[in-house]
Amino acid sequence: MLAAATAPTRPHVADSGGSGGLDTHQKWQHTGGGAGSGGGAATDDSSEAITVVDAAGRAVLPGFVDSHTHLVFAGDRSAEFEARMAGRRYEAGGIRSTVAATRAASDDELRARLAGFVDELLAQGTTTFEVKSGYGLTVADEERAVRLAREVTPEVTFLGAHVVPAEYAEDPDAYVDLVVGPMLEACAPHARWIDVFCETGAFTPEQSRRVLEAGAARGLGVRVHGNQLGPGGGVRLAVALDAASVDHCTHLDDADVAALAGSSTVATLLPGVEFSTREPYPDARRLLDAGVTVALASDCNPGSSFTSSLPLCIAVAVRDMGMTVDEAVWAATAGGAAALRRTDVGVIRPGARADLVLLDAPSVTHLAYRPGVPLIAGVWKDGTRRA
Ligand SMILES: [Zn+2]
Repeated sequence: MLAAATAPTRPHVADSGGSGGLDTHQKWQHTGGGAGSGGGAATDDSSEAITVVDAAGRAVLPGFVDSHTHLVFAGDRSAEFEARMAGRRYEAGGIRSTVAATRAASDDELRARLAGFVDELLAQGTTTFEVKSGYGLTVADEERAVRLAREVTPEVTFLGAHVVPAEYAEDPDAYVDLVVGPMLEACAPHARWIDVFCETGAFTPEQSRRVLEAGAARGLGVRVHGNQLGPGGGVRLAVALDAASVDHCTHLDDADVAALAGSSTVATLLPGVEFSTREPYPDARRLLDAGVTVALASDCNPGSSFTSSLPLCIAVAVRDMGMTVDEAVWAATAGGAAALRRTDVGVIRPGARADLVLLDAPSVTHLAYRPGVPLIAGVWKDGTRRA
């Protein structure tokens, strides 16, 4: 395990308002490898071999927590991105091209792609991540997606209600029947969460409520994609159902913000989407000033945000969304953990999982100050060096 050999000189990220992590000459004790969560109390009299890592003036922060990804897919949509950058607006239906490619892929192809993403995430400092299904949209293909996702993370989300597949275009309610019936039955054993894309062009608030209530009745936690492409009922539905998180929150009215502020639902902002679709960013400052808990996540997916970089999300949030550096780093660590209702990750403290990122920089400010520069010098997950 890893543990601080000296007390942090800045508050850890669990403190209100967040913190940039540990900026000074912290030393870290490495006592063997593979310690389980709940560690963190290494001392000099430990009988285990101790490896001391001298950060040498470089910043250490908790491993990033990416609470929103769509990593089980096949195919390539770079041509769609290229067209969009040439002036065509993104529409939710683009998901269907990934659905066709994913259905045609073998288990091993999907597994290999997923393994590549896990390495990519770790190399960029992400030590906890959620993965959604949603590119299968049949009972067998959705079951396969959550089963494969469960091989790489416990934070698996069943998103059968991602988009209405082409074969149900004339009868979306029949597709909702499938999602809340046999599809949920097949997927729930592999999943921790249920999610729905509550948006014009995807699922109505009424259909979304059916999906989420069915998942909750099966013991799944609730998450919502809401208010991405325009105003709508997604945020208020999420709050009404005590969702752990409502994600996107790009188009909010005052009632949405008030509802979030009075709830335990996290507003998860996904700036990679607006970056990659050239749409206006969500107003993080408005949410923070209202007292809403804000997380940052990548939404890594082949259509609207094909980045897995939380450092990029932090840089954009600081430059264009009104967040301070400390708020953005908190949102990508402890905020992501809150969006997954976890307290054992996203923080540096005794008892938390030893997930740590060492930056090749003297402070976490450099994550925003030096956008696009590979600053991740070391990554430990559960006390074991992984990158
Ligand atoms: Zn998403």
